[in-house]
Parts: sequence; C-alpha cells; structure tokens
Amino acid sequence: MEIFEEKMAVFGFEKHQEFLTYFKTLKGFGLTVKDVEAFLDKRRKVVQQEEEVLKRKIAAWNKGMLRCPGCSSIMGLFSVNTISANQTEDASKSMWLCTNKNCLHTIYNKESVNLIYEKQLLKKSLRRGI
Ligand SMILES: [Zn+2]
Repeated sequence: MEIFEEKMAVFGFEKHQEFLTYFKTLKGFGLTVKDVEAFLDKRRKVVQQEEEVLKRKIAAWNKGMLRCPGCSSIMGLFSVNTISANQTEDASKSMWLCTNKNCLHTIYNKESVNLIYEKQLLKKSLRRGI
C-alpha cells in the first residue's frame, strides 16, 4: 500500500474512481487491456489519416488563396457591411485583407464571402482532387 500511495497518488482521487468504473465495465463485457490497446491503435491511425488529409487540404487551400499584390502574403476573406462594426460606406459585401500586419492591404468585393468561396476557391480545390 505504501508503494501504491507513493507512486500512484499523483493521479488523484477522480482518476482512481474513473479507472475502477472503466475497469469493471471492461471486465463486465469480457474485454481486456489488449482490447483497449487495439482500439486505441485503430483510433490513432484514423486520427493520423484525418490529420494528413486536413494538412493536404490546408496546403491546397493556401495555394488557392489570393496573394497580396503588395507583399505576396496570403489574404484573408471577410464579410463587410453585415453589422454596424464592419461598415465600409460603399456597396461592398466582402473584402480581402492582407494577413501581414505590417501591410494590411485591402481589396473590397461586390460579391459575398460565400459566393467567392463557391465560385473560386472550392473550384480550385476540386480541380486538385480534394
Ligand atoms: Zn500585404
């Protein structure tokens, strides 16, 4: 018991409670720690695959994003004239804004963010097969 308290006390009361509940449930279904390890390995592979797909999509997305004509940084696309805080005093529905804080070049658009995404960026992504 001394070794247990010395080595395992770091996990705290709730972790021990959760472990007992988990272990009793596992045992109740006739499952073992090896089943848990196999499940985690399978889930880990799925998560890794999802992360790789996401990385490829982000890379393709960044290639498709508009580059700043001033500094070549990626430009972010934002809605404007939708609320009192983003009024531009013209008929713009969206704007490209340079992500470089030292530049902040801005291009106003008559098309909405959704329309631009649908018409331009998603088509580029689809052409790349993602
Ligand atoms: Zn810029």
